[in-house]
Amino acid sequence: MSDVVTRFAPSPTGMLHLGNVRTALLNWLYARKHGGRFLLRFEDTDRERSEAEYIEAIEDDLKWLGLDWDGEVIFQSAHAEKHRGALNALESSGHAYRCFCTESQLNLDRKLATSRGLPPRYSGRCRELSNEESVERAENESYVWRLKIKNSSGEVVVKDALRGDVSFACRDLDDPVVVRSDGTFTFLLPNAIDDALDGITHTMRGDDHLTNSAYQVWLLERLDMKVPVYLHHGLLLGQDGAKLSKRTGSHSVSHLRIEGLLPAALIQSMARLGHPNLPDDVADANEIAKLFNAEHVSTSSVRWSDEQMWRWHEKLLHALPAISLANLLGGHFSDVDHEKLVGLAELLGGNLERVEDALKYARIVDVTADFQDDERVLRSAGIDFFRQALETWNGSSGVDWKGWAASVKELTGCKGKQLFLPLRVALTGMEHGPEMSHVVAYLGREGVILRLEDVIRRVNA
Ligand code: GLU
Repeated sequence: MSDVVTRFAPSPTGMLHLGNVRTALLNWLYARKHGGRFLLRFEDTDRERSEAEYIEAIEDDLKWLGLDWDGEVIFQSAHAEKHRGALNALESSGHAYRCFCTESQLNLDRKLATSRGLPPRYSGRCRELSNEESVERAENESYVWRLKIKNSSGEVVVKDALRGDVSFACRDLDDPVVVRSDGTFTFLLPNAIDDALDGITHTMRGDDHLTNSAYQVWLLERLDMKVPVYLHHGLLLGQDGAKLSKRTGSHSVSHLRIEGLLPAALIQSMARLGHPNLPDDVADANEIAKLFNAEHVSTSSVRWSDEQMWRWHEKLLHALPAISLANLLGGHFSDVDHEKLVGLAELLGGNLERVEDALKYARIVDVTADFQDDERVLRSAGIDFFRQALETWNGSSGVDWKGWAASVKELTGCKGKQLFLPLRVALTGMEHGPEMSHVVAYLGREGVILRLEDVIRRVNA
């Protein structure tokens, strides 16, 4: 085992969405590629918004995707004392201060700065308050804690394995809030402290975190704690080029699961985004991990494509062993026994874009099922056609499609489409589908008879 340790650190305030999947997958791939460890840490310090149901759902979605984590799940809240300790240390060394500015003051400051063409940063009003004044005002006024970065000299260097060293002059940074007025921590401090405490060596995340990383490097260095190597990848955008939002329901993993997506399809299309050099025939995540090259991950934003994911789904579906497909079909055909489902999987496998497409062929397993395609085909073939087809079938033995079709042709005079289409619709309910020799083999002698008799009844009605 190498000393690489990565992590996925979701805040349990919503369902897993595509942006999360990408970050989780990249960190997972990095750890697996290097024979390291991949940790799962819930950043649950925002108590009001964190919910147990999301924790469970996120774990469940990760398992479904096959993104297994090493060791126990970690909860950020377990380190609350360490976070307090870090803040105290930063305060004692003069690197954190209380800020008493009210929201309206801050708004005014921001407006003023903008009107002067300056970035809307904190004005620094409380930066140099004396310790006595700060302690005294804290008795009656509400306050937040800020890091005293902006006025420090020099620069912060974020070591980024994708971008090289990214330097920020402290004067260009802000004094970010690390503790809110209600006493809760913002994401910055706990996230950085925990990376150090959990021994994270590499942190892969979206480049919207780049400035946060500068703040975090600054504070970890002040506390003499280990700074991870960062890999800030380009953001994942929606099909429309806009940032993917957590709240876009269709982009939640749970929604895709309900839609019947194969988890491997999501892994395949996600792993290839911004990492174009993976061969097409690599089917599983562990194989992808071997070929994964973090250095190839794009620092530009990449666009998500639902079509591409569903194309992978279809490709993987066609390659699925019949037993596995049968298990998935079981979700749609609850009263069909497993052996029959395996046969159905063998029969339909190559014809399905989605698993639920099998429902269109319900007539193959249930003679009472509705016809998918137009019954007009049956009516225009006429009752005599089916009577003769049944007669010929009864007069033959075995399940020989070719022989049967030839006899029906001879007896009815129908050929080509006029011959094949009504027979196909009568037996499968659909105008397209698997080869008829396979269909009749699956239905067997009795199955064909039942369907022809049913059609005769319907056309007669
Ligand atoms: N909890 C943070 C988030 O969900 C973690 C970001 C990170 O990967 O450091 O955005």
